[in-house]
Amino acid sequence: MSKEYFAISVADSKIPFRVFYERAATGAPVVRPECKDLVCKKCGKLSTHAALQRGVPNLVEIDSGLGMDVAVSLDHILTLSRRAVDVIERAAPGAVEFFPPTNDSERYFAYPRTIFCPPAGARTYTPVEEAVPGEAFQVRGRACSSCRRFRSVTFQPAWFEPPSNTFLGAAQCEPGGAYGTESFTWLIASESAEPLRSLKGCSLRDLKAERDTLRSRTHLSL
Ligand SMILES: [Zn+2]
Repeated sequence: MSKEYFAISVADSKIPFRVFYERAATGAPVVRPECKDLVCKKCGKLSTHAALQRGVPNLVEIDSGLGMDVAVSLDHILTLSRRAVDVIERAAPGAVEFFPPTNDSERYFAYPRTIFCPPAGARTYTPVEEAVPGEAFQVRGRACSSCRRFRSVTFQPAWFEPPSNTFLGAAQCEPGGAYGTESFTWLIASESAEPLRSLKGCSLRDLKAERDTLRSRTHLSL
């Protein structure tokens, strides 16, 4: 029997915050000066892992009131309380790369060590085409000729089967909006997932149940 997975859902933060972007005078998000050189000159996307490795800029805006163990920034960076780091590390040792807090913040930052990407030769969707049942990744637009990232990628976790030795990994998506950072859909094996339910801001999506529902709907519509 194949292993079952949950997708990790993170509640919206009550206090929206950005990690590698800030608001320009016009109100539009722009990359912080500290990581401007990590932006692809061709497509404008930010090399997220390189930015995390360099070090997160001081983030006064997430210091107080966030109150969540798990929260995602507007620019798609997963931030964690110390407790969340401990719980995740116990549930799936070594599966997540944690980056330490800045001087001004007690939040940690997370990046997956196992990343799932669209399969080579994946079909290109139109910008508005709905996901075809069974196809986990929807690649929309071409890959950048410089950094190789796609313009936009969406992901339907219910159709994805991670390699069976995976305990915790994440699908790389490209939101294709104002922020050039990657976004991830994190997946955790059901046998490792239970401790995560204790984390504030975190819930688990039962992918098997979703897949069964989608299958029955697809069947009915045929
Ligand atoms: Zn690029």
